[in-house]
Amino acid sequence: MSPKAPFSANCVPRGIIVPMNSQVAELESNWARAATRLGDCGIRVTDQRLQIASILLSAPRHLSAEQIADALRHGGAQVSKATVYNTLNLFAARGLIRRLSVDGTCAWFDSNVEPHYHFHDEQSGALSDVSVNDVQFSRLPSPPAGMEVAGIDLVIRLRRRLT
Ligand SMILES: [Zn+2]
Repeated sequence: MSPKAPFSANCVPRGIIVPMNSQVAELESNWARAATRLGDCGIRVTDQRLQIASILLSAPRHLSAEQIADALRHGGAQVSKATVYNTLNLFAARGLIRRLSVDGTCAWFDSNVEPHYHFHDEQSGALSDVSVNDVQFSRLPSPPAGMEVAGIDLVIRLRRRLT
């Protein structure tokens, strides 16, 4: 791993008394939180998985695989887009994050796995959360025989008003 990686262990002094640095403390707590969450989901912790999880889990956020790959590369990490994509799909399959189908152009990954819906700004591409309490479905079709509803995805597409 490159020493320039954003969440590299090299960035976080261990066993050394250093002046209080909130950025170092924040990185360290991001690492620790991400490692705990990976373990809770039964995902074996590796440096690469920890880096990707740290980026996504540092705050509630929606990121594409491309954005995460860019963030890793920006920090000097050598990670292929395919690796990032596979890792994110593993995380989603284990319930650590949620994979979103928004507009079919790219996959988005959501660090908030609680039930919720989304606004999607078509111009900027930004996603924002909508509480399930703010949405009410008055009628839904019955699922086919032998099936049950596993979940409902709702994306409310937004555009600027012309006036
Ligand atoms: Zn969300």
